[in-house]
Amino acid sequence: MKFDAIITGGGLAGLMCGIRLAEAGKRCAIVSRGQSALLFSSGSLDLLSRLPDGQPVTDIRAGLETLSRQAPQHPYSLLGADRVFGYAADAAALLARCGLTLQGETALSHQRLTPLGTTRGAWLSPPEVPRQPLAWRDVTIAGIAGFLDFQPEFVASSLAKRGIVTRTAELQLPALDPLRLHAGEFRAVHIARNLEQPDVLAALVEELLPLARDTDALLMPACLGLEDDQQWHWLNQQLPCPLYLLPTLPPSVPGLRMQRALERRFRALGGTLMPGDEVRRITVNPGEPIAVETRNHGDITLRSQHVVLASGSFFSNGLIADRSGVREAIMGLDVAQSASRSDWYQTDFFKPQPWQQFGVQVDARLQPTLRGAAQPGLLAIGSVLAGYDPIAQGCGGGVCAVTALHAAERILGAGGTEL
Ligand SMILES: Cc1cc2nc3c(=O)[nH]c(=O)nc-3n(C[C@H](O)[C@H](O)[C@H](O)COP(=O)(O)OP(=O)(O)OC[C@H]3O[C@@H](n4cnc5c(N)ncnc54)[C@H](O)[C@@H]3O)c2cc1C
Repeated sequence: MKFDAIITGGGLAGLMCGIRLAEAGKRCAIVSRGQSALLFSSGSLDLLSRLPDGQPVTDIRAGLETLSRQAPQHPYSLLGADRVFGYAADAAALLARCGLTLQGETALSHQRLTPLGTTRGAWLSPPEVPRQPLAWRDVTIAGIAGFLDFQPEFVASSLAKRGIVTRTAELQLPALDPLRLHAGEFRAVHIARNLEQPDVLAALVEELLPLARDTDALLMPACLGLEDDQQWHWLNQQLPCPLYLLPTLPPSVPGLRMQRALERRFRALGGTLMPGDEVRRITVNPGEPIAVETRNHGDITLRSQHVVLASGSFFSNGLIADRSGVREAIMGLDVAQSASRSDWYQTDFFKPQPWQQFGVQVDARLQPTLRGAAQPGLLAIGSVLAGYDPIAQGCGGGVCAVTALHAAERILGAGGTEL
């Protein structure tokens, strides 16, 4: 089977790259083994919140300039501030074309409210997520009885420290009782599925109305809207004060919504998505199309001049750590890592962890190497890459989006240096 491009991994990076290529009319396949990190994410995307020396970043362009001095191997530094800035703006537009109405600016990060009631820098957030400035004197945080993946008291105690008057409440929603019988099923995604029924949504309004009367804002867990944010808009029209949603423990409804929207767009553009399949081998022979062998396709080899590795980090087994070191799982590509295992981590759990920066080494063209040899036609993107710390630097979603679009532009022949 021949394609213009084959992508390994259908998370944020692989899907954004595939969508850009499909929008340009390329015949593109995405092979993806399992769930992506999106299902475990907040639903907000980070671009750059902190520099390696710990300085917070608000002005993104200035932050990128300083980053290139502090971390020359960071994927943003390899690409250069101008390209990163341009791709970030393009990425926001691409997400909008997928039907994702995210709020935020490329030039200036915002602070979103977390499920712990603290704030965290972000680039793009769903409109239902509260953002600074929080102009509330008085706020009510409603949990759902028996739902353990969101604790209103955490939010209330953090907001109270900012001088906001807080109240907590518990929604009963008896229609959810069948879920309550099985703790493992009482999750945000299952609640969202139940709330798709009009009578259950109407019951939610009935319970929210009395809480909404004497407060500046209502907060509740993000258990609404697997496909889009229409239910949230509708609820806001029914209530006398604004309703906001906060992410829960995984599985994440906003993350699943993003995954589905990206997959929908890729398929609608004619892309071939192969979920549940696994790339077992990628063979690069100079002068020939790259051969991709997958578990489900057996001896039918997929072939393309361009293969993009978007297989994720340790979380998705794109990278694997064992006693001998860290390796890239499919080809054994060259990986940046510290020589000694004792340097993999810092004993203080809350400090930046060196292992977060391990990953596939690439150049400015996003080309990886195998035992020092270039692999023509192969590109690596997203969280499989080395050189950045998505947690400490708050740049995970941004690196995925920016490198995905750079890879796509390189395949389309507009990325500067030739493949
Ligand atoms: C738990 C968690 C939460 C996060 N939350 C946020 C957040 O809120 N905001 C933010 O900006 N960033 C967040 N990040 C950072 C995150 O890494 C990125 O935002 C992004 O979602 C990662 O996308 P990715 O496509 O690189 O990898 P992944 O999402 O990991 O996707 C890789 C995909 O490749 C597939 N795959 C792997 N190997 C193979 C193979 N051999 N064959 C076929 N398929 C394969 C996997 O099954 C998976 O579906 C989070 C990361 C984690 C781990």
